[in-house]
Parts: sequence; structure tokens; C-alpha cells
Amino acid sequence: MQSMVRGGEACFCLKLHAHIIRQYSIVLYICGMTDYNKIIGDIYREMTPLWGSGKVADYIPALAEVDPRQLGIVVDTVDDMQSYRIGDADIPFSIQSISKVFTLAMVISHTGEDLWKSVGREPSGNPFNSLVQLEHEQGKPRNPFINAGALVVTDRLMSLYPRPKEAIIDFVRSICGSDDIYFDHQVAVSERQNADRNLALAYFMKSFGNIHNDVEKLIDVYCHQCALAMSCADLARSFLVFANRGINPLNGQRILTESQAKRMGALMATCGFYDESGDFAYRVGLPGKSGVGGGIVAYMPGKLSMAVWSPELNSYGNSIIGIEAFERFTTGIRNSIF
Ligand code: GLN
Repeated sequence: MQSMVRGGEACFCLKLHAHIIRQYSIVLYICGMTDYNKIIGDIYREMTPLWGSGKVADYIPALAEVDPRQLGIVVDTVDDMQSYRIGDADIPFSIQSISKVFTLAMVISHTGEDLWKSVGREPSGNPFNSLVQLEHEQGKPRNPFINAGALVVTDRLMSLYPRPKEAIIDFVRSICGSDDIYFDHQVAVSERQNADRNLALAYFMKSFGNIHNDVEKLIDVYCHQCALAMSCADLARSFLVFANRGINPLNGQRILTESQAKRMGALMATCGFYDESGDFAYRVGLPGKSGVGGGIVAYMPGKLSMAVWSPELNSYGNSIIGIEAFERFTTGIRNSIF
């Protein structure tokens, strides 16, 4: 009898809760505001049936051990600094190539336009770890987000900072406003032991004079930046600096000039998803960056940043569910940069 009464109470509470959420949604709708909680909640429910449609990265053995059935979604807004979260939003994962955005921001904030003598700004149309274009283009990588380009960026960063790994983690912690960010050493070691292709890219570019530091040390720093462990909540927060046109909204500090922030966005919009960048622009319409850990983070200038994590990848090395979730998001809010 007692449990029936409790069951009845619970049911009443649930109904009341659903009623309040519905009323809240209606109020937001009437005020012309976006109900991010509802949008990401709907997307989350629509996405979980897609579990099983991709494959976790296994060329870095530590990534192959990740449970593929995880999904986190976070939206952070620029104006009122709200954070909307669902699912595995606070679980740290390996950000991999998303780190290329952070190292690029660090280098261009110091060297300005100089970097573009050594790295191009065009989509590559090739896989992220491809060697072929480098020979035709005399060791100058197409853009800073394919592996070859990111290696040049990290090489320049090593010339700027005597302790590059510490500099990277300090930078990311500062834009994220969290001291909890760490290098996952197990992932770093695992990638370092399987880094033949990145070593080949770096040595090849060194033969053209486009790598200035010791290649073994460069690969060590690169494997560590890729092994940064961050959650969707951390990533969305750290990308607010790009959404806020170069100013860290957490402390008002300018990290990039407005023009540098615009250019970072242009590079993410054209090259952030390797040979799937055009399709991401077509389907989603936001500047962003992916990593083979299954994370994607993107933003709408002046408005919001968003991170999705789902470890199963498509053949381009981008999160299948991540892209699908972003497509539904910009469709749902009826807004994009285009
Ligand atoms: N660390 C990975 C590599 O160098 C990063 C690739 C990625 O995330 N696309 O292969």
C-alpha cells in the first residue's frame, strides 16, 4: 500500500515536472528565445539509436579501448554564459586533433602572418595524415589542421616556448577556466609508440627545411597535445573565446585580435574536418574542429559554442553521431553562419 502511495507521488512529481518543462518551453517560445535544453534533449534521444553505425579509432591502441556507446552534448552561450548539457557531458576524452586549434591560436597570437610562409590555408581534399601532397608542394602543408600542418605549427610553438607542453596546458586551462585539464599519458605513450606516419611527415618536411626542431621531440610534444583530456563541457567553454571574437569571456582577456579570430574561424570552416570539410559546411554551417577521439566542437560567432562527443567515427575520421547531432542542431535553431 505504502509503495503504491509512493509510486503515485512519484508519478505526480514526474507529471508536474513535465508540465513545468512544457510551460517553460512555451514561455521561451513566446519570448522568441531558443530552448536549448529541449533541442539538445531531443537530439540526444534521436541519436542514441545510431550507436553501432561507426567504428572507434584503433590506429592509436589506447583509443580502441574507449566504450563507443557514449554521447555528450553541451551548448554554451556567449551573452549570458549559460551552459546546457546532456548525457556524458562531463566525461573527459582524448581531444586529438581539436588540439590543433589551440596550438594554432597560440602561434598566430605571437607570430601573426609569418606562419603562412610555411603552412597553406587551403582545404587539402586528402585524409588528415596523407603524405602525397607534401612532395608536390615542397614540404609546405596545405593547412594547419591536417597532421603535416599541425606538426609545423607545433614546431613553431616549440621555438617560441622553452617548455612547450607546459605552455600548451597553461593556455588551454586559461581559456577553459579549469585547472582540471590534463594530458592522458597512457594515450600519449600509445600514440608515440605508433607514430611512424607522423614521424615520416615530420622528417620529410625537415628535408625541405620546414621543421626547425628535433623531430623526436616534436612528435613527443604533438602526441601530448593530442592526448589532452577534456570533456564536452570543457571544450564548449574553451571555444567561447572564438565565439566571442578573440576575447576570453571568462575574464575579459583578449587572446586573439578580432581579425585573427575571424581568420581562425575561416580556417575551421574550410579545413576543420579534413576531406569532409565541405560536407560539414553543407550540412551544419559552422566553423569547427573534429578529432579522432570522437569529439567535435563548433561555434556561432557572437552567439554560442557547442561540443558533441561520440567515439564512433566515419571513414574520414569524424564522429558520425557528432556530425548528425550538429546538423540537427543548426536545423533546429534555424541558424548557421550561412
Ligand atoms: N593524433 C592523431 C594523429 O596524429 C590526430 C588525428 C585526428 O584527430 N584526426 O593521427
